[in-house]
Amino acid sequence: MTDIFSQAKKSIFTISKKFNLDQDEVREFLEPHRVVEVEIPIKLKNGQIKVFKGFRSQHNNKLGPYKGGIRFHQNVTKEEVMALSLWMTLKCAVADLPYGGGKGGIIVDPKTLTESEIEKLSRKYIRAIYDVIGPDKDVPAPDVNTNPKIMGWMVSEYIKISKEKKLNMPENLLYATFTGKSNRDHGLAGRTEATGYGGVVVLEELVQRLGLKPESQTVAVQGFGNVGQYFAEFAAEAGFKVVAVSDSKGAITEKNHKFRALDIPLVLKCKKEKGMVAGCYCVGGVCDLTKGRPISNEALLELPVDILVPAALENVINVKNMKKIKAKIIIEMANGPVSYEAYEYLTKKGVVIVPDILANVGGVTGSYIEWKQNIENKKYTKDETLKMIEGIIELAFDNIWNEAVNLKTHLKEASTVHALKKLLGRD
Ligand code: NAD
Repeated sequence: MTDIFSQAKKSIFTISKKFNLDQDEVREFLEPHRVVEVEIPIKLKNGQIKVFKGFRSQHNNKLGPYKGGIRFHQNVTKEEVMALSLWMTLKCAVADLPYGGGKGGIIVDPKTLTESEIEKLSRKYIRAIYDVIGPDKDVPAPDVNTNPKIMGWMVSEYIKISKEKKLNMPENLLYATFTGKSNRDHGLAGRTEATGYGGVVVLEELVQRLGLKPESQTVAVQGFGNVGQYFAEFAAEAGFKVVAVSDSKGAITEKNHKFRALDIPLVLKCKKEKGMVAGCYCVGGVCDLTKGRPISNEALLELPVDILVPAALENVINVKNMKKIKAKIIIEMANGPVSYEAYEYLTKKGVVIVPDILANVGGVTGSYIEWKQNIENKKYTKDETLKMIEGIIELAFDNIWNEAVNLKTHLKEASTVHALKKLLGRD
């Protein structure tokens, strides 16, 4: 089986060929500039020394410093971080951010480690990659199983090493080396909301172009974590009827598909109390289990809603269920939730799909604003952050929409071609 990096290269190469981009230039572009591989020995609580393997792939920095998260997962591979760094290069170019693409990872199941072992691992990883990162070189962020607390350990280690080396870099620039820090520790007000908010800006732009009114559109959101929760909340505020939401334990919607808009803040409160959304049928200011219908995540995807928002896992819409999808619009808030075959099939059927590299670009846009805030030694408010995200995403959407119209193709191909043109220097 071909690895994920080869698959990513193949799909981008195919698109570039279809739109007559220079094949040699594209081939050269696809390879990362550098992939750093490190061995990290950690003394565990039981006295045993375990060596973990880590990576940092720096794909391309034509538009600015490499940018991308660091994930801690047992299934991390070199090819995976290379592929993810390539997607980051394209994503940053789509949003016209002054960033290139990067990604890092450590092969580890963090559930098997204590908190102090995770801290040691995080700090030693930064020591190992110290020379290749920095506010104008490569700016890491959280990803799968990493969070603001881990970013806090990493930035504090980065500051410690810089002081040991007597680099005299101003403190604000040291903090600008990482994004996704906690709001109290030089992070950004509004970063948590950024991805979901950006997705709703994209949706509003799309319905406007299609001549639809938010109030007439029903929405189902799969995943009620960081992305899905805020997407649902901002979509409801913008007037969309969010009629079904789910988490890993199941989904909730109206019985018999009569569809009434859920009271999202109340669903959120109920989920916090019960630990899941499945029993939280909240409409009109009350939660009532008897009127709602708990359904499976698979069934949520097949509901007769207007807009479907997969915001949890990859590959949930695929050859097995694509013929049962009834939505006319899909917003890819998760990374890669619609498989290649399903994307082609549904697009041919007239479904408008906003691809992940445009739909969830609010996340890296939030990171950019955090980095900018640190560099400028400022502190933006949440409202200022969301306003900036809105401006950047509206422009990005407009560019991609126009590219799709010019090329007579769908938004995924248009995003890829638009990004490639910029990266190959033919914008
Ligand atoms: P999260 O861990 O906060 O939330 C994931 C949600 O998905 C949880 O509610 C979980 O219960 C639910 N879930 C898990 N398995 C499920 C299943 N089988 N069916 C339905 N729901 C399920 O993660 P997140 O940060 O919200 O990220 C979600 C997706 O968005 C991922 O693909 C991530 O890569 C992508 N993404 C996130 C950001 C960001 O800023 N957080 C940015 C860009 C892309």
